[in-house]
Amino acid sequence: MEVEPSSIDAILVTHHHSDHSKTALRASKNWDSVLLSNLETANRMGWEPMAECRTFESLERIVVSDEISLLPIPVPHDDADNVAVIASNGDGRRAAVVTDLGELTVDLMRHLSGCSHISIEANYDYSRLMNGPYPEVLKRRISGRGGHLSNKQTGEALSEIVSERLESLVLCHLSESNNAPHLAESEVLMAMEDRFSGSIGISQQSGPEFSNWLGQSEPERIST
Ligand SMILES: [Zn+2]
Ligand SMILES: [Zn+2]
Repeated sequence: MEVEPSSIDAILVTHHHSDHSKTALRASKNWDSVLLSNLETANRMGWEPMAECRTFESLERIVVSDEISLLPIPVPHDDADNVAVIASNGDGRRAAVVTDLGELTVDLMRHLSGCSHISIEANYDYSRLMNGPYPEVLKRRISGRGGHLSNKQTGEALSEIVSERLESLVLCHLSESNNAPHLAESEVLMAMEDRFSGSIGISQQSGPEFSNWLGQSEPERIST
């Protein structure tokens, strides 16, 4: 994806966990972009509201420009006030980014249906997690209400909201220990049966690059 950093108007941080927040303040200063987060996240990051970031409420429509508005939707995630985000453009087309949640809420499902693009986590394969190396307490946390979505949960949710309007799907935040791209992709595609006709990609956890997994033997990084 070729985006000129100086063209980024706003950076929305969903929650304070470092894999989502670490360089956001520096980036917003370097690129002169507005930093957006809710108050809990700002407090946990030590950001000064007004001076360093603009805070939002859940379900508040944030107007970023004439063309883009964002809607933060609260989601359950341990020890964090996390949000999923729906971006809308002037034509009523919508794109969603949904990561770090133990389960999907009714509100979120309602906003996901009719989206043209969805980037959603498929964090773990249930049996890989349960048979894997993590301690029991961590297995319970990841699979609990405040943990992450499994391939099965993501597939079931998508099978409920999939329509011909869904053009592209990116599976993200895959666990390196407890998942594999081919497992995530096949479980999600199977759940949607033949009702999904768009494109599907996998975003690697270690970076923003993503590749289309289908038919490839190795995850291929798109070099920038
Ligand atoms: Zn998190
Ligand atoms: Zn995360």
